[in-house]
Amino acid sequence: ELKNDTIKAELGRGTWKLLHTMMARFPENPSTSEKEALRNFIYLFSRLYPCGECATEFQTLLEKYPPQVSSRETASQWACAIHNIVNVRLEKEIFDCSLIADKYKCGCDDEKANEID
Ligand code: FAD
Repeated sequence: ELKNDTIKAELGRGTWKLLHTMMARFPENPSTSEKEALRNFIYLFSRLYPCGECATEFQTLLEKYPPQVSSRETASQWACAIHNIVNVRLEKEIFDCSLIADKYKCGCDDEKANEID
């Protein structure tokens, strides 16, 4: 199952990148509707993620660690912590969550950092 494992890992890398980048762009002071949108997204994502065993494991994780959606900072730290729990299960390295804001940039036009590049 080497081929399937490679595909699964690629899907995982792309998905984590999207998730962390979404958190990095989540409003610092989200409205009630924005918080609801993120919470709904995460739960729907956990049902629809196209790797059955991963989705089931992820749903169990969400029961224990419900999404934190009150701000960009809490959402980013929550996603980093969840990813680290998956890392532990898969015997991967732990990521230092204090570095999260620097690592994930969306490359969006309205980002100041983009003007310098
Ligand atoms: P990844 O874990 O994909 O990480 C990509 C990059 O993100 C890393 O190289 C690092 O630079 C950075 N990173 C690492 N940790 C963090 C962190 N905590 N916060 C922010 N950035 C970080 N695979 C399975 O085999 N079984 C499963 O049950 C399973 N469940 C999954 C559940 C979900 C919700 C997702 C999204 C993926 C799941 N995967 C699962 C895939 C798995 O997590 C990896 O994506 C895959 O194994 C590839 O690993 P990787 O070593 O390339 O790094």
